[in-house]
Amino acid sequence: MKRRDFFLKAGIATAVLGSEGLTGCVGGPKLYGDKNFYINKGFTPIPKLKLSSDRIIKETVGLRPFRESGPRVEKAELGSKTIIHNYGHGGSGWSLSWGTGNQARNLVKTTPHKKVALLGCGTVGIATATLLQESGYEVTIYTKDVPPNVTSNLATGTWSPSSRVCAKDKVTPEIQANWEDACRFSFRRMQMSLGLNDIIDWGDEYRVLDKAPKQDGHYGSEVFHLGLAPDWVQLDKKDHPFKKDYVIRRSNMIFNIPSYLNFHLNNFMIRGGKVKIHPIESLEDIDALEEKVIVNCMGLGAKAIFNDEELYPISGQLACLVPQTEVNYKLATNGAYFITRKDGIYLGGTGKVNSWDTTPDRQSTEKWVSILSDLMKEMKG
Ligand SMILES: Cc1cc2nc3c(=O)[nH]c(=O)nc-3n(C[C@H](O)[C@H](O)[C@H](O)COP(=O)(O)OP(=O)(O)OC[C@H]3O[C@@H](n4cnc5c(N)ncnc54)[C@H](O)[C@@H]3O)c2cc1C
Repeated sequence: MKRRDFFLKAGIATAVLGSEGLTGCVGGPKLYGDKNFYINKGFTPIPKLKLSSDRIIKETVGLRPFRESGPRVEKAELGSKTIIHNYGHGGSGWSLSWGTGNQARNLVKTTPHKKVALLGCGTVGIATATLLQESGYEVTIYTKDVPPNVTSNLATGTWSPSSRVCAKDKVTPEIQANWEDACRFSFRRMQMSLGLNDIIDWGDEYRVLDKAPKQDGHYGSEVFHLGLAPDWVQLDKKDHPFKKDYVIRRSNMIFNIPSYLNFHLNNFMIRGGKVKIHPIESLEDIDALEEKVIVNCMGLGAKAIFNDEELYPISGQLACLVPQTEVNYKLATNGAYFITRKDGIYLGGTGKVNSWDTTPDRQSTEKWVSILSDLMKEMKG
């Protein structure tokens, strides 16, 4: 049987013609397309950012709640109350929220009580409250502020579980094991949220540099590597559009912060959870709550109430540009980075240790716009 007759008999030709094969069939069937079209492209074209100062729609400074020995997840007794701490996630609070929330939930399970007071309504508090509720607890959130007026709203919002999570010289096998447990739990949980109202996306992330960076971070990110997400791959010069010698790429998760927090908080309330605006000024205020078990997710707010000297802020500024829906990647280069979310393009790059100042510095923003403009101007495509 001739090859063409075989295809006709099997009905395959019809299937190909009926779909994207149609245009390729002008002048005879080309089942595999024009391979030169793909091979000779030389690089993956990616859309450019529109960068100019007049596109900046907001600037913010958020305070990462950093502890040198990492997030505090532990149980303590305070008079007649049991306190379960869950705070101090540094630059990793979004990423680790479900994982340390699960660890806090396990500590709550060691008590006989079913009613829980949860302090704080940032990403850590909302995740922990959700998990407790899923285990049958009656949860009331007591908080000074709700989103968008929380530090969690001022984050870039990417999977970065080892970003400023603890000091490198403080890492012990126990810290590492707890981190790993939290990281694995969070990662799994986040995959379950894919496709839900676009609260989490996967996208490409580039690092575009003149030369390979040194691995000497103070915060131990190189110690904490689990290989859960796809790893960095170095791109050959012909395979990327940038005019730099060292370009690496991986896939990473992006959290669409406003819709993410709203989605989970709404679900918590639909399932009967309560939220009360109720600032805590002192330990006496905690003692006065009706619940016997208190879960503390107050982030940096825990410092004053629990006198935690180890907790301090690492500030981070972001500048938000008008959203560009066609741009869906994240990029870091020397002196600047950007991440694209549904609500805007966020430029950033600062990490000021022990700084409580939340006033944006316009010069930093202008510098990022200029660095990224130069990069975009040189970019092919
Ligand atoms: C610029 C920047 C970029 C970041 N990027 C990322 C990232 O890409 N990925 C990532 O994983 N993490 C990132 N982070 C870190 C992340 O944002 C934090 O770790 C996280 O937001 C901490 O969450 P939280 O819920 O503990 O704290 P918060 O969001 O601060 O929530 C604390 C809650 O406690 C309440 N509270 C505080 N004090 C009191 C009180 N006295 N009484 C009652 N309630 C109180 C507050 O009102 C609030 O509701 C970034 C942070 C910054 C600043």
